[in-house]
Amino acid sequence: MRVTFPGVGEAFDETLPNTCVLLEAGEDSALLDCGFTAAHAFWACAGAPLRLGAVWVSHFHGDHFLGLPLLLLRFWEQGRTAPLVLLGPRGVGELAVRAMDMAYPGFRARMRFGLDVREMEEGRPVEAAGFRWTCAPGDHGAPCLAVRVQARGAAVFYSGDGKPTDATLALARGADLVVHEAYALDAETPGHGTVAGAIDFTRRARARRLWLVHVNREVRRERRRELEALLRDAADVEAFLPEPGDALAL
Ligand SMILES: [Zn+2]
Ligand SMILES: [Zn+2]
Repeated sequence: MRVTFPGVGEAFDETLPNTCVLLEAGEDSALLDCGFTAAHAFWACAGAPLRLGAVWVSHFHGDHFLGLPLLLLRFWEQGRTAPLVLLGPRGVGELAVRAMDMAYPGFRARMRFGLDVREMEEGRPVEAAGFRWTCAPGDHGAPCLAVRVQARGAAVFYSGDGKPTDATLALARGADLVVHEAYALDAETPGHGTVAGAIDFTRRARARRLWLVHVNREVRRERRRELEALLRDAADVEAFLPEPGDALAL
């Protein structure tokens, strides 16, 4: 499986596209989260954007789902006919419809492809778009689902927003790659993870590789040295702070 990061930013970061993760396994592909600024970034990174099979929405904050209207509109504009799988918490299908109708009234009726909506629940894995999807709730200001996505013998864990919970730790166990939000460096921030916490989480999940996303823009710019020292000191965890466009093969 190839994992690409079109965006790695948090909601307010004016220099980095919103965090989103592109998974590609052979002909199958999926995008994890699609915030305000993610659709353009996805299009710039994906080898075959029109063939995207699925979009995962972790929760209903704009930096995680409000890029959907632009994504859907561009699929329409480029003549897509294949259905798109949309996975996420309960209500994700209704939310996508409302967002689309608000952003581009009347266009939904002209789209020649449908949305295949899969509302996810903890403990109920779903097979869709060539991947196996399993979820668990994190600790965030809005209900948020972390997800484990598996294909071709590889497993990727993505936290969405939120602090780790016992359920997300179980979900991440033994994953080949943990993608975790770390809004703060080490200070406790309600409903968000930290760099130090994500390293500890990865270690406890017995997953060796951690890519940090959604890091607070000021931490990223002004406390970079401290951040990099934490990553270096992680030792038994390969912790990395990706830039937009970075990718790895699992
Ligand atoms: Zn959020
Ligand atoms: Zn966010």
